Amino acid sequence: MVAPRILILGPPGAGKGTQSSNLAQEYGVEHVTTGDALRANKQMDISDMDAEYDTPAAYMDAGDLVPDKVVNAIVEKALSQANGFVLDGYPRNLEQAAELEGMTDLDVVLSLDVSREELIDRLTGRRVCDDCSANYHVEFSPPEEAGVCDECGGDLIQRDDDNEGSVRNRLDVFDENTQPVIDHYRNDDDFVVIDGEQTPGEVWADIRAAVDAQIE
Ligand code: ADP
Ligand code: ADP
Ligand code: ZN
Repeated sequence: MVAPRILILGPPGAGKGTQSSNLAQEYGVEHVTTGDALRANKQMDISDMDAEYDTPAAYMDAGDLVPDKVVNAIVEKALSQANGFVLDGYPRNLEQAAELEGMTDLDVVLSLDVSREELIDRLTGRRVCDDCSANYHVEFSPPEEAGVCDECGGDLIQRDDDNEGSVRNRLDVFDENTQPVIDHYRNDDDFVVIDGEQTPGEVWADIRAAVDAQIE
């Protein structure tokens, strides 16, 4: 089987990161995530990229989009080195979607559907591993020992942007910029809507069935 090229779409908190880990493991593909890539380079100097601010951090902490030029370059490089991938966190606007079309074809486009109330609860309770980026939730998906990563023993932290003010802005940015991207893919043959409000295991079962059906 050829390694699939998977795009996973959905609002902040929908479970993209959680399910991308499952996909990467099950299909042996690379998890390409712009959020993690940018967090690892938050203080990078982007002043030569006609940006309003000098670092990604200024955009990210407020929950605004980092300029397209910066993000497009990250994705282009990551995809050119990947043999099969699950792309998470990109494209977030129609300009990025057009850019992606020039970079690669896709085998499956998954769209995780979750209500706004649930997203706020998920994001404000999210904890992430400072070392390996594994995802937890204080209530819905707690680690065995509070504050410690089950996978690697690293410290669990709350992201700077998982506070209520930034969360609400990110959801507004999603509605305005990213919802049109989902609508852009909606009529494609490889587009599949997944009910993201089920348990993580149920969501995963639906995703795996959808991917298997598309790549058969
Ligand atoms: P995204 O990458 O789309 O922003 P995450 O995968 O980081 O979303 O999930 C957001 C939060 O919700 C995390 O705390 C995660 O543990 C939790 N979570 C993920 N999937 C589910 C689910 N199906 N039900 C309840 N909580 C979930
Ligand atoms: P979540 O899924 O919880 O919204 P991510 O980890 O995907 O969070 O992204 C965190 C932040 O990184 C975003 O709020 C934004 O500032 C920046 N970011 C990530 N991906 C992109 C992108 N494709 N375009 C612009 N900014 C991005
Ligand atoms: Zn860890």
